[in-house]
Formats: sequence, C-alpha cells, structure tokens
Amino acid sequence: MMKLLDGKWVSALILEEITAEVALLKNKFGKTPHLAAILVGNDGASETYVNSKMKNCEKVGMESSLIRLDANVSEKELLDTVEKLNREQSVNGFIVQLPLPKHIDEQKVIKAILPQKDVDGFHPDNIGKMVLNMPSFIPATPFGILQMIEKYAIETAGKHCVVVGRSHIVGLPMSILMGRNAYPGNCTVTLTHSKTKNLKEVCLSADILIVAMGKPDFITADMVKQDAVVIDVGTTRVPDSTKKTGFAIKGDVKFEEVAPKCSYISPVPGGVGLMTVTSLIKNTLLAFKNTL
Ligand code: NAP
Repeated sequence: MMKLLDGKWVSALILEEITAEVALLKNKFGKTPHLAAILVGNDGASETYVNSKMKNCEKVGMESSLIRLDANVSEKELLDTVEKLNREQSVNGFIVQLPLPKHIDEQKVIKAILPQKDVDGFHPDNIGKMVLNMPSFIPATPFGILQMIEKYAIETAGKHCVVVGRSHIVGLPMSILMGRNAYPGNCTVTLTHSKTKNLKEVCLSADILIVAMGKPDFITADMVKQDAVVIDVGTTRVPDSTKKTGFAIKGDVKFEEVAPKCSYISPVPGGVGLMTVTSLIKNTLLAFKNTL
C-alpha cells in the first residue's frame, strides 16, 4: 500500500518542536535566534522562497531580516554585505539566496560566509565536515529529506539508493549522506547525471530513488521498481492558465503513474520543498545554540 511522504505534516511537527525550544531558550537566556537573508535582484521564484523562509522564522518566534540588493550590485558590494553579517553579533545565521546574477562568482560569495553562520551548509568547511560525518550544517534540502526519511522510519541500511542529479546543493550531498555510516544512511549509493548510460536500468534497481533534475515528469513508471521509495526534489514552474499565478509547480516524477508502484512517494508540491525551509530554520537554531 503506497504511503505519501507528507512534507506538510512532517514540517509542521518539526516547526512545533522548534517553537517550543525557541521559547525555552528565550526564557533562559533572554536572546532570540536571528536568521538574515540576502536577496539579489527580483526573480519570482527566489522571492517566494525567501519570503517563505522569513515567514517561517516569525512563526517559530525567531527574528528574521531581509537585505535586498539590486540585480546590478557589484561582487565587491555583495562581499561587503556578507562581511557585515559575518561581524553582526545579533545575526546567528544567514543565507545568500541562489542563483546569483551571472556577473557574480557564487563560489567566491559562499566562501566568504563565516562557516559558523553558514546555515545553508554550502561552505567548503561545512561540506567537508559533512563528508567526514562531523557535526556541521547540512544543506537544507538534503537535511529535510533525511528528516522526512527518519519521521517515516524508512529503513535505509543495505538498500540501493540511486540519486539523479549531482548539484552541489542537492544531489551530491544527498549521495554522500545516504552512504554515511549513520541513520538515515548505510545505503549502497549510485550518483547519476546527464552522462549516465542506461539511466532507466539504474533507476529500476533503486530501493530508494531520489530525483533532483529539474525535468518535469521525467521519471516514468517503467523506471521505478515495485515498492520503491521515491523522493521527488524537482520544482519547475510550468504555465497553467487554471492557476491564479499562471503557473503550476511540477516535480521530476510522473506522480500519477509512479505512485501506485511505490511504498512511499513524496508529492510536488507538499513534499520536499516545505522540508527545505524547516531545515534552514533548524540549522539557524543550531547556530544560535552554538553561541550560548
Ligand atoms: P541543477 O543544478 O539544476 O542540476 C540538474 C542535475 O540533473 C545535473 O546534475 C544534471 O546532470 C542532471 N540531469 C539533467 N538532465 C538529466 C538527464 N536527462 N539524465 C540524468 N541527469 C540529468 O540541480 P538542482 O539545483 O539540484 O535542482 C534540481 C531540481 O530540484 C530543480 O527543479 C530545482 O528547482 C529543484 N530544487 C528543489 C528544492 C526544494 O526545496 N524542493 C531545492 C533545490 C532544488 P549534469 O551534472 O551532467 O548536468
């Protein structure tokens, strides 16, 4: 019987836990965790993500601040803003919303963030610690997926996990995390990408299939093993005149035909996306606690 991995339910549970802890810490130490975000330009999707991050901070009783920079901002000016937040005592963690305009070197900006405040977990120090299974900030989307697997008590040890997509923010860290000697983890992992041969056969051998490609409806029922766990990270805006916004959000998995074959599947929307925001908030709480 197929079960839905309900991001709404899991993220609400986690946000409740965080709210209680924030209140407790506020009482005890008289301080409030604070997340800041830098948003460059006004891309619609980025605006939505950042707003949701800020809104959820308020929901759990944390402080949040949004710094908006013009799309034409120089790299130097952005780096100066990062440096300011590095030094700002009242800010426990901050993010630079990606993607950045083409004239700015993303890696350079990420490297400029103080690792102790890098709640997106993209700094090489945090990635290195994650690989070595040391305490670190785990990138929000992979962290969210781990928590989802954990809340549904999905068995992972000895399973074959196939990850489709090798981005630095989702696929690559996900493949490392699923192979770590931990729970969730202990999988035999295959990381696939656009140069992978026989992708269909590889996917068919997955007990756990995690897809982060950005190709709507790419994964079809004939690529999925009976009773597999399927986690869909894809979120692509596709035109849809029936929606107020004029677009719908589509996952990488053809949900209607894949779902009946699965033991568990995450929907889009209502799956991984909500977990990502929650995990960022959780990382901010961790950054705050590290300063106490
Ligand atoms: P990305 O940087 O867009 O890269 C896509 C990856 O998919 C690349 O590694 C690419 O391979 C691979 N790929 C593309 N076509 C393929 C094919 N035909 N066969 C096999 N692999 C293929 O990835 P991303 O930033 O992780 O984003 C992926 C999706 O997840 C997007 O829809 C994005 O919006 C979504 N996302 C969602 C959340 C969330 O919170 N729900 C968070 C982050 C991202 P190559 O490396 O060889 O090019």
